[in-house]
This record gives sequence, C-alpha cells and structure tokens, in this order.
Amino acid sequence: DTAHGAILYLDDITVSFDGFKALNALSLSISAGELRCIIGPNGAGKTTMMDVITGKTRPDAGKAFFGSTIDLLRLRENQIATIGIGRKFQKPTVFEHLSVFENLELALKTDHGVRASMLFRLTGPQLDRIGEILTLIHLKDHAQRTAGLLSHGQKQWLEIGMLLMQDPKLLLLDEPVAGMTDEETERTAELFLSLEGSHSLVVVEHDMKFIGELTQGKANKKVTVLHEGSVLAEGSLKDVQANDKVVEVYLGR
Ligand code: ADP
Repeated sequence: DTAHGAILYLDDITVSFDGFKALNALSLSISAGELRCIIGPNGAGKTTMMDVITGKTRPDAGKAFFGSTIDLLRLRENQIATIGIGRKFQKPTVFEHLSVFENLELALKTDHGVRASMLFRLTGPQLDRIGEILTLIHLKDHAQRTAGLLSHGQKQWLEIGMLLMQDPKLLLLDEPVAGMTDEETERTAELFLSLEGSHSLVVVEHDMKFIGELTQGKANKKVTVLHEGSVLAEGSLKDVQANDKVVEVYLGR
C-alpha cells in the first residue's frame, strides 16, 4: 500500500559509512513509464542511491520497493539483477572482439540467466527483437561491425541495447552521455524518449543540455535534485533551476 503504483519507491533510506550519512532519509517515488532525471553535486549520494536499489549497498534504515510487492531490501544483488532492473555504469563495457550483433545475442535472457554460448540458433522472435533494438540504438547499419571499432557513444548505445535484451522494466543510467559528442547526446535523448512509457528510466546526469532535451516540451516532467543524501528539490527543470536552495548548492553562497 506504500507504493501507490510506483515502479520504484524509496522511503526514508539512510546509509551510513562510519557515521557519515551518504544517504540521509532519502525518499523517492518513480511512476511506471516515467523518465526521471536526477542531478546533484559530487558527493550528493547519487551512486549510493543506485547501489541501494541494486542491492550492492544495504541501507541502515528505510524501505525500498520495486513495484508494489517486491521488497528490494529482502533480495540479494544477484536476485535483483533478474527481476527487471538494469543498471548501466558510466563506462561502457561491451565485448570488444565480438560484433555488435553478437554482443546483443550474448545478452539474450534465457531461463538460466544470460545466454552462455552461441551454440543455439536464434528463434524468429529473438531475431526480430535484436533487429528492433538495433534500430532503437541507432546501430542497424553496424550490426556486423566489431564492437571495439565503435565510437564511445556507439559503445554506450550498444551496452544500453544489451540491457534492453533482458527486457528490464526499470533502467538505471549513470551519466550516460559523459564523453559523447553533441550529436550522440541528441540521439541518446531520442533513444531515451522512445523508451519512456514502455520502460521506467532513472537517469543520473550532469549535462544540463541533455536534461533539457529529455524534459523538453513537458513542463510537468520531474527532475530531482539530491544534496547531502536527501532530496533538496523536485519539480520541473525550470522550477528546480530557479529554486534558491539549488542555486546556492551549485553556485556556493
Ligand atoms: P555521488 O554519486 O552523488 O557523487 P556518492 O553516492 O558516490 O555521491 O557518495 C556520497 C557520499 O558518501 C560521498 O561523500 C562519499 O565520499 C561517501 N561514500 C560513498 N561510498 C562510500 C564508502 N564505501 N565508504 C565511505 N564513504 C563513502
């Protein structure tokens, strides 16, 4: 009853490291299909929040639910990886010596987790799914290319494609456009906007231009500002940018 239809619900989460509170009564609720941008200065607790959601870090207190029924704090990290939460770290990790297509093929989910070998022939629906994802991630024309030869941005897209192969409901993305060209950044915004609705996305980002692209045209789309382990402000990009507390945190007094 606490989750109110949210795909992700954090309530009063506290994480202490030797008495220092990396998260301090953090509460956050993400609706199904929502694309939420999270900003905040270094040390605000963004990574720790992702670590709590994925089971890497156990909070000292609070609640964390995925959907209305799954208590994340009762699951281990390897279990959480199988329930529909996909996490993308900042640096791309793809199999450099394999083709784009093979990378996606390896990421296919099987009953036993990630597909361990390419000994089995792909089914029609699996091939179709790879085709759809190749289009989404702008790599349709590069399917046979060796992943190691892709640009930084293309590798990031490929890794997002690999996550999508596992049919996640919620994607957690840590600074996905860091190091991308302007054009790659724009195409990444396009990709995320096409996932919005069918997926829920939590995007931690510093690039305000990118956040602008993600929230463009939707005045009520929420942006969350973290500071010192809790939510400092939440609202439209325009509102949080005009918020005195946010300005103070970013510009100093
Ligand atoms: P962000 O990702 O927003 O930069 P983090 O979640 O990485 O912030 O860190 C929040 C705070 O917690 C920082 O002050 C950081 O130094 C501290 N912190 C994070 N992880 C640990 C840890 N394992 N041990 C001690 N302190 C940590």
